[in-house]
Amino acid sequence: MASDNPLIRDRFVDFLLHDVLDVTSLTRCPHFAEHERETFDLYVAACRRLARSRLFPTYRAMDEAPPRLESGRVIVHAEVKRLFRELVDLGALNATRPTSVGGQQLPMTVAALAHAYLMAGNLSAYGYVGLTTGAAHLIEAFGSDALRSTFMTPMYEGRWSGTMALTEPQAGSSLADVTSSATPTSEGHHLIRGSKIFISGGDHDATENVVHLVLARIDGAPRGTKGISLFAVPRLRLDAGGALVPNDVHVSGVIHKIGWRGLPSVALSLGESNDCHGWLVGPPHQGLRCMFQMMNEARIMVGLNAASTASVAYLESLAYAKERTQGRSITEKDASRPPVALVAHADVRRMLLRQKAIVEGALCVLGAVSRYADLSEHSTDADERARSQKLLDLLTPIAKTFPAEKGFEANTLALQIHGGYGYSSEYLPEAWLRDQKLNSIHEGTTGIQGLDLLGRKVVAGGGNTLALFADEVLADLAEAEGVSGVDVASIATTREALHRLVALTATLAQRGVAGDVEGMMGHSADYLEAFSIVVVAWQWARMWAAAARREEDAFVRGIVRAARYWIATEVPRVLQLAALCEGADRSYLDAREDEL
Ligand SMILES: Cc1cc2nc3c(=O)[nH]c(=O)nc-3n(C[C@H](O)[C@H](O)[C@H](O)COP(=O)(O)OP(=O)(O)OC[C@H]3O[C@@H](n4cnc5c(N)ncnc54)[C@H](O)[C@@H]3O)c2cc1C
Repeated sequence: MASDNPLIRDRFVDFLLHDVLDVTSLTRCPHFAEHERETFDLYVAACRRLARSRLFPTYRAMDEAPPRLESGRVIVHAEVKRLFRELVDLGALNATRPTSVGGQQLPMTVAALAHAYLMAGNLSAYGYVGLTTGAAHLIEAFGSDALRSTFMTPMYEGRWSGTMALTEPQAGSSLADVTSSATPTSEGHHLIRGSKIFISGGDHDATENVVHLVLARIDGAPRGTKGISLFAVPRLRLDAGGALVPNDVHVSGVIHKIGWRGLPSVALSLGESNDCHGWLVGPPHQGLRCMFQMMNEARIMVGLNAASTASVAYLESLAYAKERTQGRSITEKDASRPPVALVAHADVRRMLLRQKAIVEGALCVLGAVSRYADLSEHSTDADERARSQKLLDLLTPIAKTFPAEKGFEANTLALQIHGGYGYSSEYLPEAWLRDQKLNSIHEGTTGIQGLDLLGRKVVAGGGNTLALFADEVLADLAEAEGVSGVDVASIATTREALHRLVALTATLAQRGVAGDVEGMMGHSADYLEAFSIVVVAWQWARMWAAAARREEDAFVRGIVRAARYWIATEVPRVLQLAALCEGADRSYLDAREDEL
């Protein structure tokens, strides 16, 4: 194992933040005006330090000793409590939250790329933080003052942790089928009953209390998504005297997971004794709308989890490929010559360059999407706020799915470069591969993201958002084309793929309007893939232009190499995927159950 694994390349993150995303320009927004480049860089540096000195060294131990259930309580690795405290002290819990709630008011763009180091160091350890931030932020956004002081403050202070408790055994992808119930009482709370499954951070001994943000139906609520409400349901509730007492929340099982083994995911039973108190967050029956705020943040976080997990494995395999010797160059016939390092073989370089293109392309997409999130909330220009919000909504399924799906491929390549050693648990690539797999499943599977993109996002506003997206891409491509050193033919290829994507979208939308829903949606996962390739090519074009403006060195050449590679090898696939979406092949649309 290369113990000095940097997790993510510092020079790349600095380049992304400052050369590509121009993060300091966000300080023009009054909300970020107290910051400057130096404060951004200081936070990134602090995250790097903690990730390398504390999180990464504990990763393997946590993977090897997963949580266990003892007398109804979940016991996690002893390091979790210490790491959680160190992450709280770092300010990771509320880095982006306003100073009024104790936060640092940092742009999400900065926090995202800084926290990527924490995720790359130890995904499970960071998971406790990410979940708690999301839960506290929901209460900050939709809770009353009383709920904020009861639940949000202890979570932002790191005394309590949080979860999102949506999934039920019969309701995973389809939250319309949630059946947990909430009965109003005259005392202001509801009595909650139901079963939740796969709840990450759902019980543990690292914090004093856990607050679940639960989806449930108030008695008599309409069926479907419009009858779902959101509740804060703590493991322990405060009694009249201010003491913490049990709230009838029970762990009915711990999931034995193949990855993320430092973070428990549990089945929860709520209200077995009809004494589980839940407090309504936001208006009744609007729970899913509120939860979507957290889910959109969570989807970007999952994309970051994925890009970070691919990054640490990529850098591990790069170090290995430089260190391990095997065989000779393809032109060397003399067996008495010393063997060469793996990296000397073209096929190993193929695997390394592909990982680099995926990892850095994904991080750039996530940085760009985070920047839209910052501007959508904090720009002083109403038009810019609206435009950024639309682009953020459109790109969220891609920011979640591309890093998860292609990150998994990158993780298999990292393992492959390790040869037989990669297939052994003595080396870390297999652990990262196990971790990575979850990212295409939780927070909406890839299938669900495809349906969201094609069925909702691209048709939103009568195609308005897609037109906005196309304008944004075309403007950046035009700018890149004007920079000396950027290959004009590569930009033309990207532009052609974008036009094909827009035309494809129009064809599919027309089918939908004509009532041929399957003809529109049948290939939605392929559509998502085609869209992702274009988005990543757009970001590589931006990086190419930014790199070409710099003095040439190995780093700059590496950016240019990966940009050229992505556009030359992936972008032509858009044409093939578009033909597939239009019906060039109907194999799986027409396949009958008894043929599979
Ligand atoms: C380790 C782990 C941690 C988790 N953490 C949490 C958590 O903290 N909180 C929480 O609430 N949940 C959590 N989940 C649950 C997770 O979000 C769900 O597993 C996920 O949403 C999928 O639901 P499901 O497992 O019921 O699969 P299903 O919904 O049964 O889906 C199975 C397959 O069918 C496909 N499919 C389903 N419906 C459709 C459709 N309409 N069209 C096309 N394809 C479809 C899916 O894409 C998938 O490939 C976690 C899950 C895991 C494994």
